Amino acid sequence: MKKIFLFYITLFTLIAFFANAQRKCGLPDYINYKRTEEPELGTRIEQNKIILKEKAAKIIEERKSGNNERTSSITAIPVIFHIVIDTLKYNQLGGDAGIKQRCDSQISVLNRDFNALNADSTAIPAGWKSLFASTGIHFGLAHTDPNGNSTPGYEVRIISSIGFNGWTNHYSDAKHSTLGSGATSLSPGLDAWDVTKYLNVWCINFLDGMGLGGITLSKFFTVSGGGTSPDNEEGIALKWNVFGKRVLSSDNYTPTGTGTFFDEGRTMTHECGHFFELSHVWGDDGSLCPWSSGGHDDGIDDTPPQSTHTSGNPSYTITGGTINDACQFYGTVDTQHYGIACLDFMDYTDDTGMHLFTPQQAAVMVSCVTTVAGVDGENITLVQHPNLLGWPAGVSKIEIDRELKIFPNPSNGLINIAYNTNADKLIKVSILDVIGNEIRINSIDYNNAISIYLSNFSTGVYFIKCDFEKGSVVKRLILNKE
Ligand SMILES: [Zn+2]
Repeated sequence: MKKIFLFYITLFTLIAFFANAQRKCGLPDYINYKRTEEPELGTRIEQNKIILKEKAAKIIEERKSGNNERTSSITAIPVIFHIVIDTLKYNQLGGDAGIKQRCDSQISVLNRDFNALNADSTAIPAGWKSLFASTGIHFGLAHTDPNGNSTPGYEVRIISSIGFNGWTNHYSDAKHSTLGSGATSLSPGLDAWDVTKYLNVWCINFLDGMGLGGITLSKFFTVSGGGTSPDNEEGIALKWNVFGKRVLSSDNYTPTGTGTFFDEGRTMTHECGHFFELSHVWGDDGSLCPWSSGGHDDGIDDTPPQSTHTSGNPSYTITGGTINDACQFYGTVDTQHYGIACLDFMDYTDDTGMHLFTPQQAAVMVSCVTTVAGVDGENITLVQHPNLLGWPAGVSKIEIDRELKIFPNPSNGLINIAYNTNADKLIKVSILDVIGNEIRINSIDYNNAISIYLSNFSTGVYFIKCDFEKGSVVKRLILNKE
């Protein structure tokens, strides 16, 4: 009996291990779910693939004729990370320093992967080398917020619950700071910043047992894009422990679960592909071939027909090891000369197994942020606000160096103040009301991160004035006692 029990324990552990090892993104299930609400969705998706392919063809033609102006002139996209997690996960990420490292490294990974600068491209097999494409799209942390204030490019809200349910609505609760008519969670999140100017990313814990690493609401599914989802929820939701690169020495992360195989920041590379309207390489049709009844292609000609997704890190060697699947032959025609696209960012392989976007995938994404044949791409406004990447006027170098952060904001009564103790010394913190009256003063006689309780204050807007030895910084605070 004991042996049987141990066997089941081992089996369960193995199942759990492999279940966790599987990359999963929310798009296929979401599309299936939405079909019940929007019967014509499938047709609209296929029509959109044709439109995107036509746009991509025009861009590829321009590139062939040597006109690369289009991509070289694309301005970087301002990115804001909204991190909505409980205290345990905040600590597991290494607190504010760990979160900053994750955000910085995520931007580096995106710029590397979107510009064919990834060092692991040496693993791309010979047949695929000519399909290793650069988009010319760049990303940067937003340094000016919608109110014109300085921001490190991320904001943190500590919540009392352990996460969010709601993959069917793209975790809508996490995308709003106050309880709205449709919200059900007792721990709301952080509002989107103007989705026409910022790429919004929510880093949260998914509770509904789907095993998701990320789920993206692209323009296609929003009202302004012809769908039904709210415009102000457009963006990417990532599992809290797969954003950015994990640094073992500093972030105190326990290497179990989804993050183990997805800790190189490529979940967001993949989700950004969806944000710019790419489909999965197998066409999101279960395990069918494009020519089968009910089968779909990804709408991309330079990825081969593919049956289903790929897991793990397949040994796909340069010296000719190609991987084929059930869609290899269309009649007698070999459609997978160089194997399936399991090394593509739009498959489900581990972070270490994916290496490229193809030229046509790159062109589809570029078409979203440029004007093609007189038609503006759906995300073109994201590349028209380079000022948001810089620090706002009036922010001195010393303020930047201080790296002052007040969080969570909005707060329910407890605020934390963190700053770079090497840059300056904090001597006083004042709480001001909206007309500038000092209503509380905390003298600081030590040089470290501090916490202040505002439990006697009523819900509303306040200003936190931090007096350092070399000058003062004022930040707005929203107190929201739910
Ligand atoms: Zn996906």
